[in-house]
Amino acid sequence: MPLAELSSLRALASLLYPPICAVCSNDVEPTEYLCAGCESKITRIVPPFCAKCSEPFAGAITNPFDCANCAHREIYFDAAVSAFRSRGIVRKIILDFKYGRQVHLRHLVSSWLCAALDDDRLHGREFDLIVPVPLHPARRRERGFNQAALLAETLSKRMSIPSRPLLERVRYTTTQTAFDRTERMENLRGAFRLRKNEKMQQLRVLLVDDVLTTGSTLSECARVLKKAGAASIYALTAARA
Ligand SMILES: [Zn+2]
Ligand SMILES: [Zn+2]
Repeated sequence: MPLAELSSLRALASLLYPPICAVCSNDVEPTEYLCAGCESKITRIVPPFCAKCSEPFAGAITNPFDCANCAHREIYFDAAVSAFRSRGIVRKIILDFKYGRQVHLRHLVSSWLCAALDDDRLHGREFDLIVPVPLHPARRRERGFNQAALLAETLSKRMSIPSRPLLERVRYTTTQTAFDRTERMENLRGAFRLRKNEKMQQLRVLLVDDVLTTGSTLSECARVLKKAGAASIYALTAARA
């Protein structure tokens, strides 16, 4: 594209989305979504945390430990990785993106997803396919889009790995918020299935969603994919409760 055309496109874009902080409306550079002040308030997940579900632990861990989130249940993904806690600004941005129809925020949320790719559990690992966690069609109609699918598409371009919606949500479950871990798992049984004519033989899958709360949804998706023959399932989310 000719340079003049490109710069007029940029000017147009900055009219549509003026370069202000998505949280406090301070001025920011055209390429930024958050000002330095808001950026500094984001909570990064740092060790020690659970190798399976990334649940952070307070203080130093000297002995082998059981993660309270993973204990007493079977988890089907190999590991679920996030770089940030779903709190404060991170939580607000994801809610605005998901329920506030601020689809442009997918770029910021995707950057949090990409930040998790540096994690030791993912770094240098190869994947054949990115699979977004599906939404029930009724919920997708209501929301207008599946946030996980938008994030998976962005990631797909960045990693040059195809993204395909291999799973479908066949049961419209009531909201999970009031449930504990065991109830969430039971509530999700049979909620997902592999789309017709899809094959998973030995594929190494990167499963993508916006937020991990207890990991029950990701685990249930991983169970279905593994049962269909996937070789490994690593889950990646922009944030974690
Ligand atoms: Zn700000
Ligand atoms: Zn855990």
